[in-house]
Amino acid sequence: MNYRHAFHAGNFADVMKHALLARIILYLQRKEAAFRVIDTHAGTGRYSLASEAAAKTGEWLDGIGRLREAKLPDPAAALLEPYLDIALPMVTGAPAAYPGSPLVTRRLLRKQDRLTALELHPEDGRRLAKQFEGDFQVRVIALDGWLALGAHLPPKEKRGVVLIDPPFEEPGEFDRMIDGVTKAHKRWPGGTYALWYPVKDRNAVSNFRFALVQSGIPDIIDAEIIVRDTGGERLDGCGMAVINPPYTLEAECKAMLAALAPLLAMEPRAARWSVKRLAK
Ligand code: SAM
Repeated sequence: MNYRHAFHAGNFADVMKHALLARIILYLQRKEAAFRVIDTHAGTGRYSLASEAAAKTGEWLDGIGRLREAKLPDPAAALLEPYLDIALPMVTGAPAAYPGSPLVTRRLLRKQDRLTALELHPEDGRRLAKQFEGDFQVRVIALDGWLALGAHLPPKEKRGVVLIDPPFEEPGEFDRMIDGVTKAHKRWPGGTYALWYPVKDRNAVSNFRFALVQSGIPDIIDAEIIVRDTGGERLDGCGMAVINPPYTLEAECKAMLAALAPLLAMEPRAARWSVKRLAK
């Protein structure tokens, strides 16, 4: 396990991922009944932007950094506001930091809602546990997130979202995602699943989408943002496939990505986005 999210926290991919995650959770808030968020690959929850790791890549500057002064058009501005209200005060605070998915989620929980966060890396897992020490709404588990898709589903609330955000450092991660979500969907067909993936190897992405369609799982949308075109040498973009998305999400993604793609583009002419339905 070499991957450390501290090098990448707050980059364009985190912005896209956390903006969509926030919209999904905000939709869950529309009903009074409690919901659960399960974060299978949670990271540490909070990342210093003054750290050596953050300084080494400077990735956050081309991600959340660009949103500090941005004048976004409506409706994107209104849709992104809940996420930016969480992230920007931390980014501009002293010391500067960026919230990981567990912290973005925690800020959007009401008193009846719960978060289960899994992190396998011992050090990151310890940091995550410390972050939420004494918080009875959050359960941190130092376990393999893929196993959680079996062991923790369905949650007792029977409403909620599973974020699956693995590091993609080993070959086979796309396949593991398909296997994992197919099993999970059998155990809990009504849950929402948000699957983040890198756009680097375009063939791998096409195969992943094809496998999702072939899985027979209904009701899937797929959102993608492209910020550069290095032919797969670097992270050119990223995507999020959402199973059982809120009915509002497709239109919301279109509005947000249309504003974010030009803002986050590293090669302006490469900026692209798409939101498509993979299954009805
Ligand atoms: N979801 C986080 C966020 O948005 O802030 C970022 C997560 S990062 C992309 C992936 C994380 O998964 C890393 O912290 C890594 O240590 C962890 N990890 C790797 N393999 C894992 C596994 N099998 N189960 C749980 N966590 C794992």
